[in-house]
Amino acid sequence: LLFGDVPPARRPGAEAGRVVPVLVPVPSERPYSYRVPEGMHVEPGSIVQVPLGPRQVAGVVWEGESDVVDARKLREITHVFDCPPLDGPMRRFVDWVADYTLSPPGLVVRMALRAPVAFDPEPMIDGLRLTGGRPERMTPARLRVVETAAGGEDWTRSGLAGAAGVTASVVDGLIRAGAFDPVRLPPHPVVPAPDTAHARADLSPNQGAAAAELAARVEAGGFSVSLLEGVTGSGKTEVYFEAVARALDAGRQVLILLPEIALTQSFIDRFEARFGAPPAQWHSDVAPRTRERVWRQVAEGRVRVVAGARSALFLPFAKLGLVVVDEEHDPAYKQEDRTFYHARDMAVVRARGGGFPAILASATPSLETRVNARSGRYSHVTLDARYAAAALPTLSLVDMRRHPPARGSFVSPVLLTAIEETVARGEQALLFLNRRGYAPLTLCRVCGHRFQCPQCSTWLVDHRLRGTLQCHHCGHAERRPGACPACGTLDHLAACGPGVERIAEEMLERFPAARTILLSSDLPGGARRLRRELDAVAEGEADIVIGTQLVAKGHHFPLMTLVGAIDADLGLANGDPRAAERTFQLLHQVTGRAGRTGRASRGLIQTYCPEHPVMRAIEAGDPERFYERETMERERAGLPPFGRLAALIVSADTRREAEEHGRQLRLAAPDAEGIEVLGPAEAPLGVLRGRHRFRLLVQGGRGAAIQSFLREMTARAPRPRGSVQVQIDVDPQSF
Ligand code: ADP
Ligand code: ZN
Repeated sequence: LLFGDVPPARRPGAEAGRVVPVLVPVPSERPYSYRVPEGMHVEPGSIVQVPLGPRQVAGVVWEGESDVVDARKLREITHVFDCPPLDGPMRRFVDWVADYTLSPPGLVVRMALRAPVAFDPEPMIDGLRLTGGRPERMTPARLRVVETAAGGEDWTRSGLAGAAGVTASVVDGLIRAGAFDPVRLPPHPVVPAPDTAHARADLSPNQGAAAAELAARVEAGGFSVSLLEGVTGSGKTEVYFEAVARALDAGRQVLILLPEIALTQSFIDRFEARFGAPPAQWHSDVAPRTRERVWRQVAEGRVRVVAGARSALFLPFAKLGLVVVDEEHDPAYKQEDRTFYHARDMAVVRARGGGFPAILASATPSLETRVNARSGRYSHVTLDARYAAAALPTLSLVDMRRHPPARGSFVSPVLLTAIEETVARGEQALLFLNRRGYAPLTLCRVCGHRFQCPQCSTWLVDHRLRGTLQCHHCGHAERRPGACPACGTLDHLAACGPGVERIAEEMLERFPAARTILLSSDLPGGARRLRRELDAVAEGEADIVIGTQLVAKGHHFPLMTLVGAIDADLGLANGDPRAAERTFQLLHQVTGRAGRTGRASRGLIQTYCPEHPVMRAIEAGDPERFYERETMERERAGLPPFGRLAALIVSADTRREAEEHGRQLRLAAPDAEGIEVLGPAEAPLGVLRGRHRFRLLVQGGRGAAIQSFLREMTARAPRPRGSVQVQIDVDPQSF
């Protein structure tokens, strides 16, 4: 029988070559199948080029199931890129994020492949290595070159000449004499390696203890999360730099996440002062060519430290050993576009998967993080005083009902006097208002017409410096008209309410001799100009600074001794359960810009509701009491972190379609104990970019299996048709 077996006829082509799953950057639930051509080597994690429809795209060889394709339709991998494969922990991280956020894994992997041309190496450069043989004729110059190169390193010709202090022709002579072998060197690093012994900070006893605790976590290795909590100006950065140094000493790479990294030149400077070299930067403002090189050198382990925005979490680190999330409470860490994720939470997940520590730093930690620290899941490291002689500012509320501003003004006489005194002393005043532009609403005094965005359910904001009315949600801009488009009356348009431009105008009028500077993200010149102006403020080249929330973050202004919050109630009005927490954090951070170098300083907070718990806590300088209250309220309402939430936003070209699909989703909700669906109701921004939006909220207890509930719900509902789209936001930040 054995001999009677006949092998089945081979169908030509069908079995030749292996078939592997490849995750391609498209919104598919699964990897696609591709054939590996004869002689090509791939493994899980290999970055490859594959045909996709008429295009060629970069994808990653994956594990597990792939979409089954008819063998005859199978296409071949075209190219394997010459770069390190995504390692196991990184692949599991991608899968985890996809699973948690209910985002197609292809869209998550796309975030890891954000540097399309960097996958093939940069050309090597010519270098030199000492042969050991000595040329017969030795001159002092030649001797210096040989001694310089004797350390065993490889050199470039000009690098060696420079280091030895000779001209390149001396090196050339030595090459001809056979003292050097030519070698091929990798291209120059994007940043030189940091030196952990470069300039150790002299830490205060409190700082030293905190640094030792964090360093011990790094030295112990393994996964852990530490909350580094310290008032503004307590030196959290100096403290976590010591943990960074320990991780570098252990040969690991470090990722430091910062909100608004494009504006934090001062952070880069401080890092360089401590480590003798800057970190590599990763954010949307970095030039594409540099991004490619950073991506590649991170993958090769040659870049040791990356300071980046949230997207840096998806860089393919070769040996990541520590992640720091600075200002961990900052809302900028939440991405609300395609894949909805919170970078702080995902940083913790990445640390857990990679088996290394995470440090979350803040003066005003998020409630989630605080609860985790309280319960002992995170260790809690605290700095309880400002560094050196600096004292926190004295904070007081200005009750606007008792101290109303003059007609047409937005600044109470109390604050005006304080500004005047501050400027007279040669110190700086900061006026904070979290609203860009001149006025949030423009109306016609004759007919009452209000200017609304044609594509969104919002008012247009008057931007006088640009001469436009603008929508802050879709970017729509139109020229500010002279006449009312409804009734035609000329010159009767009224600006309602203040924006930063209007406050700047008022200051210029009242204090014409003072140097007034306006800092807002929408001014011409972009991030580069803002960085320059922030520097100018730090250098004392301004007396009065007016700014939006971008001035609240992390900046160090030595001469600033007064901070005035123009409209402290602004964030409280929107009915969001996180509004109180956000407002507290913002006011605490912005007033924390004052008094960082030992001068007496104060914060004046203009409010119409001084009895609000946020205002009371700010005035009493008692974050503890505020957080306790907030924690209790969230717990009572079953809101995060004591319960789980997800939002589904259904959008469509017409209101009817959006609402109808929302209803279908609601009907498709499975029966699950302890999980409740609310809505559909009109979303907070009912129309955005011409699309009508409805929202459903899914609320469950702490351990509720929200993801499987959502999966079942969307699978059972009819497929979105026509213009209908559904976005899922697990752990929404505003709700
Ligand atoms: P935080 O991040 O807690 O607000 P920073 O780390 O920005 O505080 O520190 C505030 C200021 O104090 C910075 O200018 C910093 O350089 C300085 N500083 C803090 N600790 C030290 C130290 N040990 N030695 C020298 N300067 C320090
Ligand atoms: Zn709009």
